[in-house]
Amino acid sequence: MDSNSGVVQTTCPYCGVGCGVLAETAPDGTLALRGDPDHPANHGKLCSKGSALGETLGLHHRLLEPMIGGRPARWDAALDRVASEFSSVIARHGPDAVGFYVSGQLLTEDYYVANKLMKGFIGSANIDTNSRLCMASSVAGHKRAFGEDVVPGLYEDFELADLVVLVGSNTAWCHPVLYQRLMSARRERGTRVVVIDPRTTATAAECDLHLPIRPGADVLLFNGLLAHLAASGSLDRDYIARHTEGFEEAIALAAADAGSLVHLAAGCDLDPAALRLFFELFAANARTVTVYSQGVNQSAHGTDKVNAILNCHLATGRIGKPGAGPFSVTGQPNAMGGREVGGLANQLAAHIGFEHPAGIDSVSRFWNAPNIARQPGLKAVELFEAVGAGRIKALWIMGTNPAVSMPDAGKVRAALRSCDFVVVSDVVATDTTRFADVLLPAAAWGEKDGTVTNSERRISRQRRFLPPPGAARPDWAIICDVACRMGFGDAFAFRSPAEIFREHAALSAFENEGRRRFDLGGLAGLTEDAYDALAPRSWPIHHADGAGAGRLFGDGGFPTPDGRARFIPVRHEGPALHVDDSYPIALNTGRMRDQWHTMTRTGHVPRLAAHAPEPVVDLHPADAARLDLAEGDLARLSSRYGFTRARVRITGDQRLGDAFLPMHWSGHFAASAAAGTLSAPITDPLSGQPELKHVPVRITREALG
Ligand code: SF4
Repeated sequence: MDSNSGVVQTTCPYCGVGCGVLAETAPDGTLALRGDPDHPANHGKLCSKGSALGETLGLHHRLLEPMIGGRPARWDAALDRVASEFSSVIARHGPDAVGFYVSGQLLTEDYYVANKLMKGFIGSANIDTNSRLCMASSVAGHKRAFGEDVVPGLYEDFELADLVVLVGSNTAWCHPVLYQRLMSARRERGTRVVVIDPRTTATAAECDLHLPIRPGADVLLFNGLLAHLAASGSLDRDYIARHTEGFEEAIALAAADAGSLVHLAAGCDLDPAALRLFFELFAANARTVTVYSQGVNQSAHGTDKVNAILNCHLATGRIGKPGAGPFSVTGQPNAMGGREVGGLANQLAAHIGFEHPAGIDSVSRFWNAPNIARQPGLKAVELFEAVGAGRIKALWIMGTNPAVSMPDAGKVRAALRSCDFVVVSDVVATDTTRFADVLLPAAAWGEKDGTVTNSERRISRQRRFLPPPGAARPDWAIICDVACRMGFGDAFAFRSPAEIFREHAALSAFENEGRRRFDLGGLAGLTEDAYDALAPRSWPIHHADGAGAGRLFGDGGFPTPDGRARFIPVRHEGPALHVDDSYPIALNTGRMRDQWHTMTRTGHVPRLAAHAPEPVVDLHPADAARLDLAEGDLARLSSRYGFTRARVRITGDQRLGDAFLPMHWSGHFAASAAAGTLSAPITDPLSGQPELKHVPVRITREALG
């Protein structure tokens, strides 16, 4: 415990809502955590996971010292080994023979130096992130429509809207505090809520209209909505004319794709009357927010789904206005911060991609990095395929557990086993750390300083209130030490997270001149004290007074060459893999209310585990009867990629022919393989995001004994 007692304002490390947390240390050293009433994301509220944060701070499974080849080692020896192995592989095979796989759990400062090292100085773009599995389709959709990856709205729009449409988002469980804000508005203002989700989730159970859509039919549905808006005279012709391009092509394809209401309803497997009601609600409510999440993004056509939604908001001018806009909510606490620094293989830095040589030259000048990467690198699924094929010979995994979370996880584990040199830096032992040649103990939440950005572009500080245990160190310091040992010391001589943040902010404004909306220029001169006192605010932040921006694009001004947004014509394609006689059930995967990712933090907290003690597969009663499975039976789920086991729960919340399995469990916490073992490594061609919501499986009774 730090000797200075008092209250520290920090930010929850679990989800993209980004709730403020107060950590109070009493004079006797006891620690109490509660929601921060002054944080604009949560106004003092915390969900079940956030409320249990204090129970995750123990040393259970903590990594406390570096290990080389499974033996304890000194930091110097471990860092020397990482630097020399990476340098050796690069010298013999070139920069594209190494890779980093990082995480939306990292703080922006950690992310920034990892990205700078790989892209600027190693000279490869082979750094990708587990956020690829979470929101890459939204990034790609934003870039196609707006010219840049920008969420236009703010959380308060949920409270100002008259209609909120939740698409592929079990908000009640996955973004609970945001959901609480929405439910308060519903009680107080009568906000109408429509849920579009194949399952009757906790969110769908409390809404005005639930559309249990056929999995994968989202483009069809929103093309139908666009056609209805046009046919019913509900377009904002002035906004379309002044601020957009491509409407005619988009509406022509949408109308042809959707066809008649009866045809559309059949394609979406929805009641035509319910579909019409949704269309009429959308058309009638100028203050409409459409929230979308993993059910949209985690698809082989996720980017098209995102653009189908954005098309409807552009067509009605409902964007960046109070109570109106499309809203992508992110799963991880710093998915947005990773996007800002360029921690995706197809982004360079500071919202600059690889499309324009001038942008690459600009970053090269700023970093003084003549060896900068000039081509996109390998996205997550491709990265692990390259590891398995031996093309990547040294891999550094930071703060994530791909041995469980990646699709075709069995193949990922085989790839890690075969890789010449694997480094893992993490807080606790995971299924992935067992593959590490060098294991580096990282400081955990509460033990380090930095920033995160939530889903409404709001940057908040995470602050240290505990000393790191054992030899654990902040990720940024570990990465900088390796960079220095690789000979890049001049560019990585950072002494604090504040120094890194200042450089990150300065890069965002360097030669920008308003071309990009992402701009933190006003924070580039922050002193250490000002960084320490930094209050939550949304970017862009242009001026030294540090005031954050509000909504964007309400009056156009898109960061495209002509300042106009783009309608993207999209056509319904459906899931990449179809059920057949061998694999007749469509498996959906997702989160439980009280668990986080692969349970490495939440899995050891008894009161969180009590909500769902073991992995359960949800089946429709008629499917269970057909498969001769009863409630509580142990079932085997098999796909073309692997198998796992789960207890059967029979529920009318599932559509006939569909099943649902939580994503969290692995052999670490239950006698079963991870859901990722079943999933196909099939990705969206634009975003590289895998299709995790539609896996054809066979489900049988598991033979015991
Ligand atoms: Fe943490 Fe998200 Fe819960 Fe807020 S809603 S307390 S950020 S897990």
